[in-house]
Amino acid sequence: MSDDFDFRLREAAMDWLAVRTNDGTDPIRSDELADFHFEGARFRLMDAQRGIRKPKELSAALSIRTVYSPDGASRPYKDEMGDDGLIRYKWRGDDPYHSENRALRSAMEQELPLIWFFGVGVATYQPIYPVYLVAEEHDEHQFVIVHDALRGLVTASAHVEERLREYVMAESKRRLHQPVFRATVMRAYGTQCAVCALRHGQLLDAAHIVADSEEAGIPVVRNGLALCKIHHAAYDARILGIRPDLTVEIRSDLLIEVDGPMLEYGLKERHGQRLMVVPKARSEKPDPEMLLQSYERFLTAS
Ligand SMILES: [Zn+2]
Repeated sequence: MSDDFDFRLREAAMDWLAVRTNDGTDPIRSDELADFHFEGARFRLMDAQRGIRKPKELSAALSIRTVYSPDGASRPYKDEMGDDGLIRYKWRGDDPYHSENRALRSAMEQELPLIWFFGVGVATYQPIYPVYLVAEEHDEHQFVIVHDALRGLVTASAHVEERLREYVMAESKRRLHQPVFRATVMRAYGTQCAVCALRHGQLLDAAHIVADSEEAGIPVVRNGLALCKIHHAAYDARILGIRPDLTVEIRSDLLIEVDGPMLEYGLKERHGQRLMVVPKARSEKPDPEMLLQSYERFLTAS
């Protein structure tokens, strides 16, 4: 097949994903992915059995996949970001000449854009694209991945200048960690505020129970809560606390204040009530230890 075929296919796949995922904001289910057609025929974008999709028509990998795990246990997310702020993707196994590793190397050498399907639930993926493989680290059995937005800043040896390190790290979080965390939390909470059950995704945030400023990996869903904008701000400002038994508390001085409906219904009436929405799966419920840490901070502010 010609290079032109490769180019057209990748472009068509990414354009199609942009339409289906609200420009990469929303996740997509694997059965929806099966709808992709290219030049009149159905074409698979992701390999459901392997980590890497290398279509026979192409000389290089088209997409990579990371399977969902609620606690990051089966795939150590923390290892994904190096001290330089760049993301790594592990080889398949130990053999550098495994066909999947060769397909990745070929994508790197030809500087081809790839799609990263990042699992945020069972058969549900957040697509991150376009990403490029910019270097290979043989000793660690991994490739260095950058999002398109960072491509020009990283040299072929995956070297990041010291002055750019923080920027690169922040950008990696913004392009990979945040969308994956948000999609995971929204899916776990059925796109509803945990405190008031509001259902409008545009008014909802994936909030951290304990701030993750130091964390190099994707925050786990157990450190997350889906909260509407008001309840998120109230939680961060310690106006609203959540006890480890999932009961909501409102700061005492607000309880005696008299004001309009937002204060009355949105905040005061939630005092003493249980969270309205909690993930069904035990492995995805808010972590009581983290809730306690955050609740203690709420108490000191009261
Ligand atoms: Zn709310």
